[in-house]
Amino acid sequence: MSRNKAAQSAFKIGADGWCSNVLRAASPNCDTRPGDAKIDLLVIHNISLPPGQFGGPFIADLFANRLDFDAHPYFDQLRALRVSAHFLIRRDGVVMQFVSAGERAWHAGLSSFGGRERCNDFSIGIELEGTDFESFSLVQYEMLAALTHALQAAYPLIDVAGHEHIAPGRKTDPGPFFDWVLYQAYYRKLLGSHGLQAVAQHVLRFPGLG
Ligand SMILES: [Zn+2]
Repeated sequence: MSRNKAAQSAFKIGADGWCSNVLRAASPNCDTRPGDAKIDLLVIHNISLPPGQFGGPFIADLFANRLDFDAHPYFDQLRALRVSAHFLIRRDGVVMQFVSAGERAWHAGLSSFGGRERCNDFSIGIELEGTDFESFSLVQYEMLAALTHALQAAYPLIDVAGHEHIAPGRKTDPGPFFDWVLYQAYYRKLLGSHGLQAVAQHVLRFPGLG
């Protein structure tokens, strides 16, 4: 069993909303979900800091409110930002978690899905380290599928959407290089390996794919 396969099968969301076998870096940028919130949406993003550069500590630093704003000219415009996501999947496939999935992370901003506003209330946000201008790594799709599967076991997820779908005109991520077909294929492969493919309530809806 490869390291990645081992990690995939080891993802499990605890009752506290934290996932096993990921790097934890708790962010203060979160709060309590509304009492009636049903967590039924997964929102996919991309992020890189500085844009187009990978591998640095800056995304985690931003979510922790300890980004060195003088480290790069681009960072100056981020000074007032207080943001987070539940998860980040780095280019190397390493998964980091910043907010308990039971809490509300601040990833979607002004948004709506299926006529419902404020997607942060009822969604889980996953950032992929990347840009709108280049392909994501295969191991990112593998980890994303595994994480999706683990989250689905813990929450009543129904839909997956991109940030671009819930905030059109304002956001463009994960962008044209994110391969929804490939994501769905990895996800379905995992469902199949768990014998769940034919069970309707286990099949998530993907944008444009059903
Ligand atoms: Zn986004």
